[in-house]
Amino acid sequence: LPLGTTLAERLMAAPVSETEKIFFSGNLPPMKIRLASNENPYGPSDKARAAITQIITEANRYPFQATVDFKQVLATHEGVTPDHIAVGSGSADLLSATGAAFGLEGGRILSGFPTFPMLMNYAEVFKATWDKVDMDENLAYDYEAVASRIKDDTRLVFVCNPNNPTGTLVDPAKVKAFCEEVSKKVTVFSDEAYLEFLEPSKQVSMVDLVKKGANVIVSRTFSKIYGLAGLRVGYLVAKPELIKKITRNQPGIPNNQIALAAARASLGDTAFMEMSRKKNAEARKHLTDFLDKKGYFYGKSHTNFVMFDPKGDALGILNKLAERSIAIRAWDYKGMQWLRVSIGTSDEMRLFTKAYDEIIS
Ligand code: PMP
Repeated sequence: LPLGTTLAERLMAAPVSETEKIFFSGNLPPMKIRLASNENPYGPSDKARAAITQIITEANRYPFQATVDFKQVLATHEGVTPDHIAVGSGSADLLSATGAAFGLEGGRILSGFPTFPMLMNYAEVFKATWDKVDMDENLAYDYEAVASRIKDDTRLVFVCNPNNPTGTLVDPAKVKAFCEEVSKKVTVFSDEAYLEFLEPSKQVSMVDLVKKGANVIVSRTFSKIYGLAGLRVGYLVAKPELIKKITRNQPGIPNNQIALAAARASLGDTAFMEMSRKKNAEARKHLTDFLDKKGYFYGKSHTNFVMFDPKGDALGILNKLAERSIAIRAWDYKGMQWLRVSIGTSDEMRLFTKAYDEIIS
């Protein structure tokens, strides 16, 4: 790679050929109803807003201490020591730093498919082969099939539970057994971006395996249920050797004062999370009832988005919705185009289903 080129620049310059074939976000103008990026329509929380207002006076200061303090807060939250934590400008950036750390060139990244699309950008940037294993018939990650595809030069196995874009959840006990076994051979990256959309008693993180010293990297984000996507805060939990290797590839000071303060104030805000979870489930039900009526097949979603087969011209529908200022996404999978709709407010979902009906009628 040319000298003086930053990691971010390399990522931006990545060939998007394969990405474009699979994932259509479109170069669309700003939309009024944004159902394309799995954001929380209710965020940021009041706690985050208050913290943001208060921290403004520190905007002239580097966030050295705030970063150290935040890592300590996260470590306490996760029941580990701070050397098990990496904080980044969104979990996507931490995934990229992980890619850079693993010397992927010429090697393989393995995952289910379709999954977090950023993975394919990174596979392209790092010149790795991306081995994609189809979902099962219910659009859920097929862990047996993924395990059977591990090769000698597989350098990273990516799992996502619940998975994006399918929204599907696999029994955490099964995922844990998979991660425990597979991580004896190759490092596993467990993306848990949507875990908080599950009821608290069902939120099983792979952090337990990290605590046992397994070769597992757990990724969490403040972009989803916490409603801070615009501030860019994510973190990893992994054993200290891995954290050291990964953080070497991060920018010097990845997070700003405001982002750190908002994330810190949001962490563990159970009232805000419960409200978001409940409203999300209600609005999601409106959407799945609509899909049921249409007789469309969709992934059983445990998240704030639903992927479905529109039985027709998905891209045409996406474009017509865009003309009405409604943004969604389309995926190419098994030679068909699927749509993914993020769950907005109940009003937004009503506007979406009304517009959809008008478009296809
Ligand atoms: N992982 C998954 C599975 C995602 O869907 C997303 C965002 N769409 C991210 C990670 C990235 O989140 P962020 O970089 O905002 O933390």
